[in-house]
Amino acid sequence: MHTHTSHDYDVIVIGGGPAGMMASVSAARRGARVILLEKGNVLGRKLMISGGGRCNVTNAKELDELIQNIPGNGRFLFSVFHQFNNRDIMQYFENLGIKLKEEDRGRMFPVTDKAKTVRDAMVKDLKRLGVDIRLNAPVKRLHYQNGRFHSVELNTGDTLHAGAVVVAVGGRSVPESGSTGDGYIWAREAGHTIIEPFPSAVGLTAGDTWVKERTLQGLSLKNVVQTLYDPRGKKKITTEEGDMIFTHFGISGPVTFRTSRYVTPAMKKYKVNTLPLSINLQPQESMDNWMQSIRSRMKSQPDKSIKNILKGTLPERMIPLLLQLSDINPDTNYHHLPKSGLAELARLIFAFPVTITGTLPLEKATVTAGGVHVKEIEPGTLQSRLVHGLFFAGEVMDVDAHTGGYNITVAFCTGYVAGASAASESKGFEAVQNMES
Ligand SMILES: Cc1cc2nc3c(=O)[nH]c(=O)nc-3n(C[C@H](O)[C@H](O)[C@H](O)COP(=O)(O)OP(=O)(O)OC[C@H]3O[C@@H](n4cnc5c(N)ncnc54)[C@H](O)[C@@H]3O)c2cc1C
Repeated sequence: MHTHTSHDYDVIVIGGGPAGMMASVSAARRGARVILLEKGNVLGRKLMISGGGRCNVTNAKELDELIQNIPGNGRFLFSVFHQFNNRDIMQYFENLGIKLKEEDRGRMFPVTDKAKTVRDAMVKDLKRLGVDIRLNAPVKRLHYQNGRFHSVELNTGDTLHAGAVVVAVGGRSVPESGSTGDGYIWAREAGHTIIEPFPSAVGLTAGDTWVKERTLQGLSLKNVVQTLYDPRGKKKITTEEGDMIFTHFGISGPVTFRTSRYVTPAMKKYKVNTLPLSINLQPQESMDNWMQSIRSRMKSQPDKSIKNILKGTLPERMIPLLLQLSDINPDTNYHHLPKSGLAELARLIFAFPVTITGTLPLEKATVTAGGVHVKEIEPGTLQSRLVHGLFFAGEVMDVDAHTGGYNITVAFCTGYVAGASAASESKGFEAVQNMES
């Protein structure tokens, strides 16, 4: 076993995701000697699959909207974003020669549409800055002494000493990308509280008959509004807008991902296994207007069946189900239409009910919510309030965002700040030690 006695490095960064790579860049830029330890055989494995393999590097929205899209402790990041934000991410990549483009909802991508462009440019920058990159180097434990970070123990048994460590090992979702929740154990050993991790940006399971019978499986809907309610169906928990898809287990897609953030906490709060959700299929119209226009269309073609009248106004695959649920014979025409039937049909179109039974598991989620309690982390430096020289960055913290480049923004920005402050802390510590010896 080989043990380093003196500090070979100023800063040890654990985890080669966006948070750890950016932490290494910023620490090295401040003149720190940096080693980046990555468990897997490549850097940025999750970054490579983000944004459908195109890498949604950041989002161009203004700061207040950025924070609004970070439902998990977005406000904790004010101080971080004051130091480094989405504009700085764009500048950083432009300086590396990576051209970016803006897509819908402010999402930023490399013009090449390839995540590899982003990752390779960062790796090149890390090398240029002299960061010692160690792949296939899983960290086993962190050691602390007298309220200070002491050393990192690798799986090989090797020990590395440094003045500061940045823990950037991610959450627990998609563990095959490397993030297996190791950081929670090390944080707990340092005395930190861990907010129980839970899945976000994930598909929702539903218990309705049409799910079991796969009536709507594969059907996508554009620009719908989902509202999640408390168990009694009275109080709105969240209302989200966007595209969705019906699946074999329930519902998924961008708007469902946003809604999913609130499902686990609400089920826990109300101690229930199901929650009502409604989908407004026609959010751009009022229910009264819709009823009036259908009624007048039926009136002008009194012999045409309702199923044919509805064609073109609704997703065709939903029509039989909607008519069945509202107890209307699909072949009914204007002469035979019961008045209450149309009202019931309208109610279903403007609030299609879904019985949410949960989320897909954390392993399948895009994002891990929960993590190291932010009250125990200094917002300006991301240093632990409990152990000196211990820093956190990225998804390992109890911070989570909606998809759309917001999570990667959190990772890059917190990485930047943690790396910079770890460099200062380590160099300051070294100076004190030199004075004492
Ligand atoms: C399919 C998918 C699509 C996504 N799309 C988007 C998107 O479009 N926009 C967006 O904003 N976000 C997206 N995300 C989320 C985003 O990728 C993550 O939030 C982000 O990668 C988190 O960065 P991180 O650096 O904190 O952690 P990670 O990227 O998870 O990196 C952590 C690293 O630490 C390493 N590690 C773990 N344990 C150890 C150990 N013991 N020793 C050494 N190394 C270790 C891991 O191998 C890993 O490389 C997506 C996620 C997924 C899964």
